[in-house]
Amino acid sequence: MEPIYLDHHATTPCDPRVVDAMLPYFTDIFGNPASLTNQHGRRAANALEDARITVARFFRAQPNEIYFTAGATESNNIALSIVEPGEHFVTSLIEHKSIIAPAERMQRNGIEVTFLTPDREGFLSAEAVRGALRPNTRLVSIEAANGEIGTIQPIEEIAKLCRERGVLFHSDMTQAAGKIAIDFTTIAADMASLSAHKVYGPKGIGALYVRRGVRARPLVLGGGQERGLRSGTVNVPGAVGLSIALQLRSEEMHAEVTRLTGIRNELWDRLIVEIPSVSVNGPRALRLPGNLNVSFASIEADSLMVAMRRFSLSSGSACSSGERGPSRVLQALGVSEAMAMGSVRIGLGKSNTAEQMTMLVDDLRRVVAKLREISAA
Ligand code: PMP
Repeated sequence: MEPIYLDHHATTPCDPRVVDAMLPYFTDIFGNPASLTNQHGRRAANALEDARITVARFFRAQPNEIYFTAGATESNNIALSIVEPGEHFVTSLIEHKSIIAPAERMQRNGIEVTFLTPDREGFLSAEAVRGALRPNTRLVSIEAANGEIGTIQPIEEIAKLCRERGVLFHSDMTQAAGKIAIDFTTIAADMASLSAHKVYGPKGIGALYVRRGVRARPLVLGGGQERGLRSGTVNVPGAVGLSIALQLRSEEMHAEVTRLTGIRNELWDRLIVEIPSVSVNGPRALRLPGNLNVSFASIEADSLMVAMRRFSLSSGSACSSGERGPSRVLQALGVSEAMAMGSVRIGLGKSNTAEQMTMLVDDLRRVVAKLREISAA
């Protein structure tokens, strides 16, 4: 039997309606959208611009503020490349690796970087950002929500502060988009990143929002596609897939948020009652609806996940899970190394049900007891 999928922060299955919408763009409408001298190219270009309009509408942005990329990793890298040597950059310790790694390279290249530490529930405050700003701060980048512990950041407040201080603000919205409302007419963000495969769209396509008037800098040079910011023939089926995935989210997100929050909170309440020595990482309110992150004392998460055969679980960010050690995010929260090594991330999505959570609690209770018995022997 297929395991039950509980890793929706790592990726989501592509919605069949998204796949259907994409299919004609592989075979029939296959033209190069930059090849405007022929009808094939123009039809592809029209589809691309329609997709851009749909993506923009979802975030209440303008179409010419949306640039298609190969995903949030690329979007984040482009956004951060705006900072130059001699300038200062502010971010946090709990950002995704596609912010942390370029930030570390920036440090090696003569850019000052401040990594803010979150509080125990993973919150980063506008106050903390204010305290970090310097006269030469060029950019602040704070994620909208965390993919490990689900904490939703006060980005509206942080963006407003940055705007007042004349500092650019970027937000990695990969985990938040399609799960919480994002409206660029009220959030004063200058740039934002997103990815289709977290919202039931295809892998390998994402977008960077760049507010009109902000001059982002290209990383890859070439034919000048995407108004010079991202050269390379645009992935037209992917862009269509991203747009349809977001359109479906706007229709279905609200009901799903309510349902998943209910299932998640019930799971939370049962776990802490039915399994001894567990603790939940991250906040109860202002948390992504499908996220739960639980530490089990005296348990190795790796052994737990192997023993939990009926479920696909994860111990943190998929991109870093090859690294083994305790989660960087949990450590930044002040979770002990032992508890961090015993933590599992449960990522609920569209397909999950309350009945599956009953199975999950039953299996966890049994497996945790057994593993503790073995380690005590
Ligand atoms: N940022 C966050 C917060 C993410 O969760 C991810 C995906 N794990 C990324 C960026 C990278 O996205 P992509 O896979 O599209 O490169």
